[in-house]
Amino acid sequence: MTPPTLFWFRRDLRLADHPGLVAAIARGGPVIPVFILDPQTETLGAAPRWRLGEGVASFARSLEALGSRLILRRGDAARVLAALAAETGATAVHWSRLCDPVSKARDAGVKAQLRDRGLEAVSHPGHLLFEPWTVQTGQGGFYRVYTPYWRAVRDRDPGDCLPAPARLPAPDAWPASDSLSDWALGAAMRRGADIVAAHARIGEDAARARLDAFLEQGIAGYSDLRDRLDLPGTSKLGENLSLGEVSVRACWHAARAAMERGAPGAETFLQEIVWRDFAHHLVHHTPHITERNWREEWDGFPWAGESEHATRWKRGLTGEPVIDAAMREMYVTGTMHNRARMLVASYLTKHLMTDWRVGLKWFEDCLIDWDPASNAMGWQWAAGSGPDAAPFFRIFNPATQAEKFDPKSVYRRTWVAELSRQPGKDALDYFRAVPESWAMTPSAPYPKPLVDLKKGRERALDAYHAHRDRS
Ligand code: FAD
Repeated sequence: MTPPTLFWFRRDLRLADHPGLVAAIARGGPVIPVFILDPQTETLGAAPRWRLGEGVASFARSLEALGSRLILRRGDAARVLAALAAETGATAVHWSRLCDPVSKARDAGVKAQLRDRGLEAVSHPGHLLFEPWTVQTGQGGFYRVYTPYWRAVRDRDPGDCLPAPARLPAPDAWPASDSLSDWALGAAMRRGADIVAAHARIGEDAARARLDAFLEQGIAGYSDLRDRLDLPGTSKLGENLSLGEVSVRACWHAARAAMERGAPGAETFLQEIVWRDFAHHLVHHTPHITERNWREEWDGFPWAGESEHATRWKRGLTGEPVIDAAMREMYVTGTMHNRARMLVASYLTKHLMTDWRVGLKWFEDCLIDWDPASNAMGWQWAAGSGPDAAPFFRIFNPATQAEKFDPKSVYRRTWVAELSRQPGKDALDYFRAVPESWAMTPSAPYPKPLVDLKKGRERALDAYHAHRDRS
């Protein structure tokens, strides 16, 4: 009889279209699903860590419905896997590849240590449409700019989606498992968890339902409405894609089928899905994008670090309604509209002249759809320091952007209680979610703007020109 295979789940919490799981089952023996709270996972920000816990709980239930289990263990991943292999007699460990630098370094170490012990250690695709090294320029290099990347992949075939297994062969005896509640993955969310939970759609079934609803009601209007802050024009699949509760390949095929049916927004949706792959392509080839200015010439730019202004930005107290609305939306829902992300990032890095890493870190703590590649690419794009970035001199004016994308002030009033005579639940939930130490109440007067928009813009441009002349 074939000995057991350990399958190490990370950001691939699904059964359908799972190439790694299919390969593990094909080995023929029992498959033991494992999730590890390793030191890397321990450092996740508050919201993604909470969301991960919910995703793991849901996935464990899906496995149980198949007669399987999710074994939870805490500790160094290589040591945990080696110990589990010894306990269960497993001879192989399989997992789905990730390409952010922290995961890559960990996984390379795990692979080497397991192989040293004579175990089969195999990584699989599944997190992306196309593995980053398989998309090459004519010269054999990697892409730095999105449009040619898109042209290179748009007619490629990512392969057919794989069906979910009908059953997972179980071992004769299950190894012991930690209890998820003992891990308290939501502890750092404090008062916010219940509030964010009302907005999250957790697990594979919820992800699929969300995709189906978007295909039915959203995709046709996607290109026209995706920038509107006041309308539900996007899929909201980010949180599910981030944990692999739906495969990006399933989204690709759904968008392709919609294109064939003539749905007008389908190609735009496909392009956005490909932005996600592009972010991972960049992270794989230039891992410094997550930590340092992608363009070295930005080193030495006089960005400020943490400050009173940055704190007011984080708390939605800049006095600029669309910025505050977006920051509060993120605190209450764990997500933020894409256009709003662009606006708050531009405002922080340009009007407040604050280092993009201050914003990147705050998003890392607050987003349930946090993704190391998309977050880094988004911040460096907004700051102007990235590969395919908005030029620094193109500074969004939050007021005119708000008029264009929130013409009746619906978004701003939904999230900023101080702007309404009778604030709604979402606006008030913000005050229930934030730490009491922030001492925020909806009856406090709305603050005056932190900076005059025109002066802030001029200050940023002056600093930019001075920096360019110096370097
Ligand atoms: P839709 O518009 O419905 O798009 C479908 C999917 O395509 C998304 O779920 C996402 O997976 C992908 N996608 C869409 N736009 C982008 C994009 N610009 N870059 C990469 N992928 C994209 N996205 C994250 O998933 N995690 C992050 O941590 C993240 N941080 C960001 C930070 C900044 C400063 C900026 C400007 C953007 C960031 N994005 C991030 C990208 C984008 O804002 C979100 O993917 C999008 O808002 C998610 O909402 P949705 O699922 O409704 O998107």
